[in-house]
Amino acid sequence: MDAFIPVNEPDLSGNEKKYLIECVETGWISSEGPYVTKFEEQFAARVGRKYGIAMCNGTAALVAAVRALKLSPGGEVITPAFTIISCITAILESGLTPVLVDSEPRTWNMDVNQIEAKITPKTRAIMVVHTYGLPVEMNRVLEIARRHNLRVIEDAAEMHGQTYYGKTCGSFGELSAFSFYANKHITTGEGGMVVTDDPGLAERCRLLRNLCFQPARRFVHEEMGWNFRLTNIQAALGVAQLERLDQFVARKRRMGTLYTELLSGVKGLELPVPETPAAKNIYWIYGIVLSEEIPFGAAEMMERLKKLGIGTRPFFWGMHEQPMFQKKGRFNGEHYPVTERISRRGFYLPSGLALTEEQQRRAAEAVVKALVA
Ligand SMILES: *Cc1c(COP(=O)(O)O)cnc(C)c1O
Repeated sequence: MDAFIPVNEPDLSGNEKKYLIECVETGWISSEGPYVTKFEEQFAARVGRKYGIAMCNGTAALVAAVRALKLSPGGEVITPAFTIISCITAILESGLTPVLVDSEPRTWNMDVNQIEAKITPKTRAIMVVHTYGLPVEMNRVLEIARRHNLRVIEDAAEMHGQTYYGKTCGSFGELSAFSFYANKHITTGEGGMVVTDDPGLAERCRLLRNLCFQPARRFVHEEMGWNFRLTNIQAALGVAQLERLDQFVARKRRMGTLYTELLSGVKGLELPVPETPAAKNIYWIYGIVLSEEIPFGAAEMMERLKKLGIGTRPFFWGMHEQPMFQKKGRFNGEHYPVTERISRRGFYLPSGLALTEEQQRRAAEAVVKALVA
């Protein structure tokens, strides 16, 4: 049998090795070192922001971003039900309450038309999450935020190189967060970054990242922080990866287009939306939702694909359906039908940057086989 196709494999064939060797040879391996600053400056510039604050991962970037805003505890933050736990972690970590909205059935992004109904006198912020490759309807979000005087935090962890009506994703939040996990468009293995235009917020993120050590009296603390620092080694990878971001985005788009070509004739599959008026999909992952005519869900499909040598991952599981929250009565009685449907019927195919066309063809053939098996 052909070799198993993993769900993700990064492409590290540029200057990664060269820069990493340089870190070892110069001894700059901790979070001190020239690549950290270089990566922060180059990445912020790429997104069109004034400041970049590198973090040890995307979750940490979100945690620091929320904390930096100093929102009063007990306040509410509106965010999608269909997202990664990191968003809720960040909201809860600052003593705030997450309030959920459902997704659009086809783009899988948060349905911005549901935001206003969730606004209360306690609402302080909206945390938008661009999901899987297409941007959230930012014009509507920004207009609602302005009208209700709400802060906007942007989770752009899946959006390196994406734009919304020509403006870069990651440029919309007062603070915007990125991840550089191994399956993102550019990776540092583990890593993240907050970007912002506000010098005060940038400074706060730097403090929070570095245990709130104070410049004048290092071990005297006014506030609690974390060690969220990114290492020079990771940043070196980031600089090398960033050199190829345009190439990576173009490749992901070609991969998405090929999968769609191979699968568009197959009955029972809801494939990613190739484009909206605001953006062409960058296919962070190539997601598929099984329509109701398929008599089984994503779990069964993924099991079948595994037997055929194809690695997959499930879609996010709704935040309101997380056992740890249900046990505590959080989101009690709340239902988000789109989230519930796509979390049960959605999964994604191998989508990493090292994927070959031949592997894609095998994956697509396996999908067809698995449906009738
Ligand atoms: C990957 C991801 C994160 C978390 O990033 P980590 O680096 O894995 O902590 C946060 N939000 C979204 C939308 C993501 O896809």
